[in-house]
Amino acid sequence: MFKKLYHTICKDTASKNESAKLIIVTRMLTILMICYTTLVMFSLHSYTNGLLFVGLWLLLFIGVLPLSYRLKTFTTFCFLNILILIWIAATILCFGWNIGTQQFLLALVVFCFFAKYGHEALKILYVVLLLLVRIALYLYSARHAPILSVEPVMGHTLQILNTLAIYVSISVIMVIFSRDSQALEGKLIEYNEQLMKQANTDPLTGLSNRRCTTAYLEKLLDRPSTSISICLCDIDWFKKVNDTYGHEMGDEVLKKISETFQNSLPSDCFISRWGGEEFLLIFPSHNGDESRIHLSTLSQDIRDLTFRSGDIDFHVTMTFGLVEYDYVSSLDTLLQEADSKLYYGKEHGRDQVVF
Ligand code: GH3
Ligand code: MG
Ligand code: MG
Repeated sequence: MFKKLYHTICKDTASKNESAKLIIVTRMLTILMICYTTLVMFSLHSYTNGLLFVGLWLLLFIGVLPLSYRLKTFTTFCFLNILILIWIAATILCFGWNIGTQQFLLALVVFCFFAKYGHEALKILYVVLLLLVRIALYLYSARHAPILSVEPVMGHTLQILNTLAIYVSISVIMVIFSRDSQALEGKLIEYNEQLMKQANTDPLTGLSNRRCTTAYLEKLLDRPSTSISICLCDIDWFKKVNDTYGHEMGDEVLKKISETFQNSLPSDCFISRWGGEEFLLIFPSHNGDESRIHLSTLSQDIRDLTFRSGDIDFHVTMTFGLVEYDYVSSLDTLLQEADSKLYYGKEHGRDQVVF
């Protein structure tokens, strides 16, 4: 039954450029006002005039519900606001300040601030108006006796009903609006993380791309702690792999080699696809000699990989150009040095680590 009711409340909320949350809260508040005025009517059953007065308001609040399915969301919102505002003034004039209806003004402040994006000045103006209404009502009721006098017990009952209704209405407004904004914020964070990841990752291998690696290196060289080594490496005769076994097979080789990097190298090693079949490996806490040992193991692991294309098995090798950071050179100089070492390796037989 609650599900059906909730479904009805949420119905027709997708009108263009209108807030779905706003109409849901407006309808929920209307239903709350209907329940609340009904309860007030029950408590006032022995006061004919009071009963007629609240009965009229009950009808007015019931009337808002069908309107909310016909009018624009913002129009319904304004209509309900005005109705509640008049209700507050009328009940204070009728039953006096002590029954606490004026606290509904706070619910209206909260409701108004969540209502529409932007329009800050209008919102502040509305809050000032509500404040003035509250002061005016207070001053009026301090000087004039209520039109309908009720017994103290009845006064307490109305006070409790009002307090309850105000707490529930503020809670409804807060829960619905904050739940959505929290979910939205969560989605935005997730989306941002995905975007960041996409911007920093090479889609084929899943390794960091050149852009992200340069940023990492700049940061690392800016505050070097221990020894740093960097290595530029390149697959040997990779064009032949593509030409002989096809581009897809070439992609497979790139992926498998990337996996091997991740499995063979120390966990703090930063692995990136520098471009094409060239990779940049950064050892943020290893000197050249230590890195060379890791690279020897890695080059053996790569040599040991077997690729299969149809009935043919083949292997690949890589050439590595390794440099140790001297705490003085610029990033460009360091990269050029690594590139020269790699070139030297290519010129002198490939499949080797040049340091
Ligand atoms: P060397 O040993 O001198 O490095 O020879 P090589 O054949 O590896 O070098 P070359 O620069 O002649 O060829 C590199 C090839 O890498 C050419 C290019 O098509 C291929 N390649 C670059 N990026 C990719 C890629 O993402 N996928 C595939 N399948 N091939 C790529
Ligand atoms: Mg190559
Ligand atoms: Mg190359």
